[in-house]
Amino acid sequence: MRLLIVEDEPDLLRALARALREDGYAVDTAEDGEDGRFKALECDYDAIVLDWMLPVINGLEVLKALRAKKQTPVLMLTARTAVNHRIEGLNTGADDYLAKPFDINELRARLRALIRRSGGQARDQIVIGGVNVDTWSKSVTLSGEPVVLTAREYALVEYLALRRGKMVSRTELYEHLFDENEDSLSNLLDVRVSLVRKKLGAEFIQTRRGQGYCIP
Ligand code: CA
Repeated sequence: MRLLIVEDEPDLLRALARALREDGYAVDTAEDGEDGRFKALECDYDAIVLDWMLPVINGLEVLKALRAKKQTPVLMLTARTAVNHRIEGLNTGADDYLAKPFDINELRARLRALIRRSGGQARDQIVIGGVNVDTWSKSVTLSGEPVVLTAREYALVEYLALRRGKMVSRTELYEHLFDENEDSLSNLLDVRVSLVRKKLGAEFIQTRRGQGYCIP
């Protein structure tokens, strides 16, 4: 899952990006509304965290431009006192909002719920042979035994598991699992796939040359 955070307070932006990367998301960042709008339209994010008060153009304008083209889930950050912002934001198509200052764990939980709702995911558990993927706790078991995956390995498994039976191209995986700072020319993806295979079985993820990867 790849996220965009648009936030002009450097400390908050850094803290959010770090926390969400720890959760296994690929995270892009923007520090003003113009850059945020550009990235939001350019890339198909799984969700966007959008501050209201931003330099150049404000969050509401970014949201309006986005909603004219895309339904990417958006969580808006507003000032606690600005009730009218919340109402206006929700009316314009924000999916949720959080008032500043907020607890970062609440943002994590709301984001997870938002992505889940937008994916139309009805169940927490995806069962694939002996492998059980729990998308709520972000954990995996094999034959009932917990398997330790890194957050990034888990992100790959979840992405493919949610699209089980479908061939997912390398391009799509790079777009959703890696952020703008990671080198897509390197073999990061192959490394991650081979580590997952070591842990969950060689057949768990299949490769079709020139097409991509699939959990059959
Ligand atoms: Ca701000």
